[in-house]
Amino acid sequence: MSTVPFDISSLGSEALMRLFQETKSHIGSVKIELVTNGKHSGSQQGPPAATTGVYTHRPTILLLESLDRERQIEAIAHELGHLLLVYRFGLGVVGFRMPHPANSEEVFRYHSRTRESWFDLLGQIPNTIHHSILVGYLEEQYGIRSAHHLRLLQGHFQNKRDEVGKDKHLSHARALVAFEYEALIGQVGEVIDFSRQVDPFREAYRSAQKHFGNYGSASIPSSSSYKQDVLSFLEDLGHLREDFLFFPEDPYAGKTDVQCHSMSSIYIDSEMN
Ligand SMILES: [Zn+2]
Repeated sequence: MSTVPFDISSLGSEALMRLFQETKSHIGSVKIELVTNGKHSGSQQGPPAATTGVYTHRPTILLLESLDRERQIEAIAHELGHLLLVYRFGLGVVGFRMPHPANSEEVFRYHSRTRESWFDLLGQIPNTIHHSILVGYLEEQYGIRSAHHLRLLQGHFQNKRDEVGKDKHLSHARALVAFEYEALIGQVGEVIDFSRQVDPFREAYRSAQKHFGNYGSASIPSSSSYKQDVLSFLEDLGHLREDFLFFPEDPYAGKTDVQCHSMSSIYIDSEMN
């Protein structure tokens, strides 16, 4: 992948510049780069942008080259919205806590989580929560719509009405997307058949409604209640609260002994493909 620096002011959007300045004031620097030979370049279906480096406090937004101006504005605003929720509102990314080396039970649990589907689930949690807030937030505060994001979400279940996978974490992640659909578009029962979903899906869907159902642009949770809600959600799914921590604001964040696999791909929204 090769990138070149992108001049955001070339888009001539006063609202986007305001959002950019606001976001930078909470982080320091935010880089924006254009991907000139990205894998999805030219695609109208996939995510138009992604952000890396969130946990290092040096985020870079990567933007596909092929977008028109309106979609570039939307895509950058979307990523800045994620960053604002992380750095201004403290709605960080969730990752695994490194086990204490003397605790063999913890070490075993930690190393049994190498399956990729775990990271789909962990990545989907802040993604869905952020989206249920930022779509309204960007529109209300900056007059920037999220038409492309909503189109991707709308199409998400088109060919996947019934659940096929047997992987528990993927079912949990799928339930989060269904929850997001209901929050942003409405009536997910019209695009999926609840009776054909597996139990882990239903369990996660109910839990998301219970813990995140009140979230929105008018009711952004405090950082601490967000963390408790996310941990309660994970607990409902059978996990231990103490196995997780949040980036980048937790005391362990940024230390090399903490691993968060979902970090690099978290904002790619790849689950929307
Ligand atoms: Zn997103």
